[in-house]
Amino acid sequence: MRTDIHRPTEINPEDYSFIDCLEFPSAGALFPIRIGMDTYMKFLNEDRVDKTHRSPNACTVCGAWYNSGAIFLHHPTNKIITLGWQCAEKLAMGVDFAAEKRKGKSLLERATKKAKRVSGIRNFVSVTSKEVRTALKADHHICQDIRSKVISNPEWFTDGLSPKQEALVLKLWEAANTPKVEEKHVPVPSTDKRIQIEGEAVSVKWVEDHYSRYGGGQLKMTVKVNTDSGSWLCYGSVPTAVEDLERGQTVRFMAKVEQGNKDEHFGFFKRPTKAEIVA
Ligand SMILES: [Zn+2]
Repeated sequence: MRTDIHRPTEINPEDYSFIDCLEFPSAGALFPIRIGMDTYMKFLNEDRVDKTHRSPNACTVCGAWYNSGAIFLHHPTNKIITLGWQCAEKLAMGVDFAAEKRKGKSLLERATKKAKRVSGIRNFVSVTSKEVRTALKADHHICQDIRSKVISNPEWFTDGLSPKQEALVLKLWEAANTPKVEEKHVPVPSTDKRIQIEGEAVSVKWVEDHYSRYGGGQLKMTVKVNTDSGSWLCYGSVPTAVEDLERGQTVRFMAKVEQGNKDEHFGFFKRPTKAEIVA
C-alpha cells in the first residue's frame, strides 16, 4: 500500500515541472546511448532525488520500467522524480512531449550514426591489410577519394575494397613513393612584407580538425615556387576564391610567408589574398 505523495491517486500535475528527457537504450540496442543521465546525476549528487523513487528508469508514479521518460521537479519538496512517457503524457504534465521526444531522438540518432561509423571503420581495418591501408594514404587523388569514402561511409565497404581497387591503390602508392631525381631547393624568401607567390599546387587536401568535437576541417595546399636557382615550398589554407583548385594547377596569390622550423626551403603562408588559378 503506497502512502507517498507521488502515487497515482494523489499526484497533482501542477506541482511538477519538466526538467529534461531521459532515454535509456533498450536491451537489444546495438549502441547503448543514454540521454539525460547527466542531469539526473547532478540532482543525485545534490541529494535532490526523491526517496520514493526507485531508479532513474522506473516510473515514480506507476512503478513500470521504461526506455523513454523524463525528469520532473516536484516544487513543494524541491526534489526530482522520473516518469515514463506514458504516465507523463496521461497526467498532462505541462510540456510538449512530442517536441521534447523529437529533440531527444535527434540526439540519439546523431550519436547512433557516429557510433555506427566508428564500428564500420573498425570493421574495414579488420578486413583490409596494412599495406592496402597505407597505400590509401598515397598522395594521389584516387587513393584520397577512396579513403575519404571509407571514412564517411564505411558501411559501403563491409568486405573491404575489391581486389581490383586494392591492386590499383597499391600501384599508385608505389608510383607516388618511388624516389625522384633530387631537386635543387632554395630557402623561402625572408621578408616581413606580403609577396606575390606563384607556383604549382603540389598537394591539395582536406585536413580534419581533430580538436573540434563535431568534426570539420580545412582545405590545405602545398605550393611549389620555381626560381632560377631552385624551388621552395609553402603550405597553408586554400583561399575561398580558388576553392576548386586541383593538384597540378598553378595558383597565384599575395601572402606573408614564414620559414618553417625544420627546412629552410619549406614555409607557411598566412592570410592569402587576390588568389587566382593561372594555369
Ligand atoms: Zn508510469
